[in-house]
Amino acid sequence: MAQLSHVKGTTDVPLSDTTVYGLLAATAERYPDRPAIVFREQRVRWNWREFAAEVDALAAGLGALGLRKGERVGIWSPNRAEWVVTQFATAKLGLILVNINPAYRLHELEYALRLAGCRAIVSAEKLRTSDYLAMLQKVRAALPGLEFVIRMGDARSEGMVNYDDVLAHGRARPPAPEARLDRHDPINIQFTSGTTGAPKGATLTHHNIVNNARFIALAMRFSERDSLCVPVPLYHCFGMVLAVLAAVSTGAALVFPGEVFDAGAALAAVHDERCTALHGVPTMFIAELDHPEFARFDLACLRTGIMAGAPCPIETMKRVISQMHMSEVTIAYGMTETSPVSFQSSTDDPLEKRVSTVGRIQPHLEVKIVDANGRTVPVGEKGELCTKGYSVMQGYWNDEPRTREAVRDGWMFTGDLATLDADGYCNIVGRVKDMLIRGGENVYPREIEEFLFRHPKVQSVQVFGVPDARYGEEVCAWVVLKPGQQSSADEIREFCRDQIAHYKVPRYIRFVDEMPMTITGKVQKFVMLEKMIEELKLVEAKTA
Ligand code: AMP
Repeated sequence: MAQLSHVKGTTDVPLSDTTVYGLLAATAERYPDRPAIVFREQRVRWNWREFAAEVDALAAGLGALGLRKGERVGIWSPNRAEWVVTQFATAKLGLILVNINPAYRLHELEYALRLAGCRAIVSAEKLRTSDYLAMLQKVRAALPGLEFVIRMGDARSEGMVNYDDVLAHGRARPPAPEARLDRHDPINIQFTSGTTGAPKGATLTHHNIVNNARFIALAMRFSERDSLCVPVPLYHCFGMVLAVLAAVSTGAALVFPGEVFDAGAALAAVHDERCTALHGVPTMFIAELDHPEFARFDLACLRTGIMAGAPCPIETMKRVISQMHMSEVTIAYGMTETSPVSFQSSTDDPLEKRVSTVGRIQPHLEVKIVDANGRTVPVGEKGELCTKGYSVMQGYWNDEPRTREAVRDGWMFTGDLATLDADGYCNIVGRVKDMLIRGGENVYPREIEEFLFRHPKVQSVQVFGVPDARYGEEVCAWVVLKPGQQSSADEIREFCRDQIAHYKVPRYIRFVDEMPMTITGKVQKFVMLEKMIEELKLVEAKTA
């Protein structure tokens, strides 16, 4: 009988019952004087003792406001020191931290705060042109449950509490004891990126994220001698779990180059702080590698880090290894609902597997690949990836129907299309929905993207299907060229000729300056599709 696509992660390392705050307390006790956290833009530098003291003060201050275990506290800010302090202070009190996307605007903000039923929110003053405090004032009238707006910054605002005052108040009080917590208590609500549809609040427990972070750190061989540069956003699991919790679980230092991603700032942070690890979505690594002053930075200190969040092009992986010296870089695959990582490559894997797959399953987890009828497919065959185990979220906050749809018999149906090979290496080949059918032939955009990415002038490429009267759907590619390059649709098509099946060759090719993206680096294909439909309609109207 054919081997089935079903794997379980084995290990000698047991799951931990530690809480989120427990992770910090242990590290602060073990390495009190070692560097803990650097926020370069804010000129903040703490060792673990100082950081833990800051967390304890904020926890005491939040407790003094009357906030209690189980209540929800939003955090709305780009990468700032207050974010991580709030993360652990709320965890200590058993408050459920609600991560609000820094890119949210009024409608989304109100939606998220209402869905989670936040009693308080810790907010930055602003980000770029977004005046957070003015937006909060606007939505407040419609959210009577939102009692406290705790604002960062020096100024005072009518009807708001100042973050520094809460901190100062907390410092003057005896430290609040850690709340009586169960490892299965929810501790965090993260809104899933929602490249389509209304955001859902994935509810995660201490057990979910603490353990995921521990195994992520293990895969990178993290220790207190490491120092991780974090250009990814904190509000996303990439920042708060793969970076912050993974570092805190081992004593590795965290270096934040700035409030938002900037390739030059990330490279400078690695150079100046001698970081040994760097995280990023593929787009970030591409921007760093193509930075005009790339050669000026000494990156020889780098060893490891994670590329994740979107398909990781093989060429980019190879450049990260050879040009950024990240010989032990790992690829991770996961989703918010699974805390997030379920596959991660290991430094022991052969190079070819490390650059072309998302590695093997994480310990204690179980994955199967199923067909449309829920039957596990033989190895090598495509199907939907389903994850089971300690990492699966408690559910979507206040959304039983959508939870039941996503998690069946303990299996999280990821919506990702994947294959497993006989050795358990996984390949993400697209989304279940990310498939188009042209004239009866199934086309997987990911495959064409990988191919076009090999073109020497192409910096990034996205492929998707557009409606077509004759074939049902046609293949469309959006291409960003490398700086200074010029090309044409014919040149790109010529590159495909004889190399890939004719039905995969894009009928429509558009050159753009950048792809529409979510803040976490997820390309919004639906935006491109809308634009193409508009454009094609105009052409139709003109020729009619
Ligand atoms: P999020 O919940 O925002 O973390 O998004 C999760 C989704 O990102 C997954 O369902 C995948 O579609 C995609 N994703 C994450 N990591 C990878 C990866 N290494 N390769 C391909 N897709 C990925």
